[in-house]
Amino acid sequence: MRAEILAVGSELLTPLRSDTNALYLTAKLLEVGIDTGARMTVADDAGLLESAFRGALGRAEIVISTGGLGPTEDDLTREAAAAALGRSLHRDPALIEELKARFARFGRVMAPVNEKQADVIEGAMVLRNPRGTAPGQRVEAGGRLLVLLPGPPHEMAPMFEEQVLPVLRQRAGGRVVRTRILKIAAMGESDVEQVVAPVYKNFTNPRTTILGGPGQVELHLTAEAASAEEAEARIEELASPIRERLAGRIYSEDGRELPEVVGALLQERRLTLAIAESCTGGLLSARMTERAGSSAYFARSWVPYANRAKVEDLGIDPALIDGHGAVSEEVARAMAKAARERAHADIRAQRHGRRSRAPRAFPERP
Ligand code: ATP
Ligand code: MG
Repeated sequence: MRAEILAVGSELLTPLRSDTNALYLTAKLLEVGIDTGARMTVADDAGLLESAFRGALGRAEIVISTGGLGPTEDDLTREAAAAALGRSLHRDPALIEELKARFARFGRVMAPVNEKQADVIEGAMVLRNPRGTAPGQRVEAGGRLLVLLPGPPHEMAPMFEEQVLPVLRQRAGGRVVRTRILKIAAMGESDVEQVVAPVYKNFTNPRTTILGGPGQVELHLTAEAASAEEAEARIEELASPIRERLAGRIYSEDGRELPEVVGALLQERRLTLAIAESCTGGLLSARMTERAGSSAYFARSWVPYANRAKVEDLGIDPALIDGHGAVSEEVARAMAKAARERAHADIRAQRHGRRSRAPRAFPERP
């Protein structure tokens, strides 16, 4: 079963606002086993909107829009959706009364333009909006389900979860979808692909997505089943041969990031870390101190950025820098060695003054 999402609003097509509703909806739909086939952001334009609805309804079983349900001239979602379905709009007197009562609760008189928000598509079910004025709508049409939701995220999300998601879960057959993310270090995307593709190509459930990013690659294994246990078991069936093929490269399967995993390993092994970094300008040290309790293993760091600092602060031989360049394995190695030695000495003096109890510095080898 496929869904398409339309984010309505000209402001979403400027650099000032971005469409977060569709991301939220995509994630929620995945949880009940519904894939999103396409997402579109559409301006407040009657013709564009109608054709966007028409196109989406022609392709997907489920079409969800957010935004454009307000009372102003440029709120055109109701009209466009009705036109795309070839249905009429009628003004619901009971809804008008509800809107008026809502305004009265806030000590205000409702302006006549707000009556527009009581326009309901023929055959639609009205979705109550206790957090705002614009009600949503749910329409069944020719085996398709069309849902109109308000734009403000704090109105849209609860309306969707309470009044739409249960219907979709049932429609999708009560299936459960689970995703496990295998995070991989020290390998490029194409290398990972080459090693694991022969394994995952044999599986359609779970299906596998490979995502390359700076410094890491992720494999997303997504399984669909009748229960969470069954979905997890299906994932494990694929994860296990992948683990074998990527021995020593997968550092996380539970969402943890690399600094957290490295920190936990250091703590477990009672090792301490000293860092000398240059081009990264302190980034590595910042990441390694994100985890609470990192002082247990993070000793200290240096950011000798200029060549002169490398010489003055870490005692790097200027000839080494001249000979190999500052950005070279030789200089990096010498910096790491100097940092380890210097941190080592300080910790030893501070802690016990006894050589034998001194924590070992890390990395010992580059
Ligand atoms: P109302 O006008 O009654 O508030 P509406 O349904 O007409 O409701 P819009 O006017 O389209 O909603 O949007 C209201 C606000 O909601 C926007 O200013 C924006 O901040 C936010 N919003 C709308 N669409 C999105 C979206 N797709 N993602 C994130 N925020 C959105
Ligand atoms: Mg609006």
